[in-house]
Amino acid sequence: MSYTEEVYERVVAQNPNEPEFHQAVKEVLDSLKVVIDKNEEKYRKLSILERLVEPERIISFRVPWVDDKGVVQVNKGYRVQFNSAIGPYKGGLRFHPSVNQGILKFLGFEQIFKNSLTGLPIGGGKGGSNFDPKGKSDREVMAFCQSFMTELSKYIGADMDVPAGDIGVGGREIGYLYGQYKRNRGLYEGVLTGKGLSYGGSLIRTQATGYGLVYMLNEMVKAKNDTISGKTLIVTGSGNVAIYAVEKAAELGGKVVAMCDSNGYIYDPEGIKLDIVKDIKEVKRGRIKEYADRVEGATYTEGKGIWNIKCDIYLPCATQNELDLDAVKILIANGCKYVAEGANMPTTREATDYLMANGVTFMPGKAANAGGVATSALEMCQNSARLSWTAEEVDTKLHQIMVDIFHKVDDASKRYDMEGNYVAGANIAGFEKVVDAMIAQGI
Ligand code: GLU
Repeated sequence: MSYTEEVYERVVAQNPNEPEFHQAVKEVLDSLKVVIDKNEEKYRKLSILERLVEPERIISFRVPWVDDKGVVQVNKGYRVQFNSAIGPYKGGLRFHPSVNQGILKFLGFEQIFKNSLTGLPIGGGKGGSNFDPKGKSDREVMAFCQSFMTELSKYIGADMDVPAGDIGVGGREIGYLYGQYKRNRGLYEGVLTGKGLSYGGSLIRTQATGYGLVYMLNEMVKAKNDTISGKTLIVTGSGNVAIYAVEKAAELGGKVVAMCDSNGYIYDPEGIKLDIVKDIKEVKRGRIKEYADRVEGATYTEGKGIWNIKCDIYLPCATQNELDLDAVKILIANGCKYVAEGANMPTTREATDYLMANGVTFMPGKAANAGGVATSALEMCQNSARLSWTAEEVDTKLHQIMVDIFHKVDDASKRYDMEGNYVAGANIAGFEKVVDAMIAQGI
């Protein structure tokens, strides 16, 4: 058995009931095989892979809070501090009923390579809770966030671990979390990113993941002598990543005709009117269904199946494993040429392999959605320097970071004779820097 296969077996045996973590590890190890084989003796002796797949630390805690009826509720809270070889742990917090330790380990593991690819000094981490903010009052969300941070504040810090948002954690939640950190610790510091602009946040952080995704897509199409302009797109999800991906894609001349939420999808052949989506999702915190009631000619379909709509470019921006083999067969039959992941691991392994084997240009999330965390690192930088850059300054840096990531990924795929295999390119380029730092720092 090869070293990568051995380590994968070990991960499965030692981390039962964590299928998403197994999936993420397998995808990375499979594409690293070419690199590992070349250095097998050295890496085995240093147990590089065994160390890479084991989080440095997992903090798991109780989150009690009082709901609006006066009843005490209890949720689970976690922070996975996965790898600090290249900088302080950095990664979002996810509040969603599906959250468990295995999901956060998969996200934390992906984050190591993503953060490495940004070229900025940030390690990998992730955290969250099985708390569901959907349907909760503002006061309940605040009570939950305060309780969550009361515990978490003991383990994080501006130079130690800097959380941010993810699914279910946006500007409102970051504000409540930050306020509680300050109350507990008495420190004004850049301990969270995605903060509001009035208290240390960075311009463009809200837009960064979506904009960055489209900057990456632009490099992908350019490499094929193609353009976004004139193309039809589907952007799944309707959260922060999706909304700003739609905004930037439209700015570059693309037409986004469909979006969705966990209940169903909307189709607007004239092109999605983003001001209406923003009003529904950002102002009213409503459901995407409402779009079809407000826009003539738009339809709403309950349930899954957004991929049945014809498109040239598909950007999955909702959640893990949303895009499977049956769906990508339909996408390809309808002429889809590009898939870039705005969410983390939204495409199943079989679907990814099928897309790449059938001529679709595919960019994995750890490269394509790195603009969010990269701009978080820019926020940390502004906080340390006690200054604020203009929107243009941040956007220019974000754009350059995405172009650089594209070239790192593309170059790595070429160095190992797998030109155009961006999954391998992203994993290899991300891995090389982390391993170099781990070896340099000893045991
Ligand atoms: N949750 C985002 C991600 O998956 C952003 C993390 C951050 O800004 O720290 O990369």
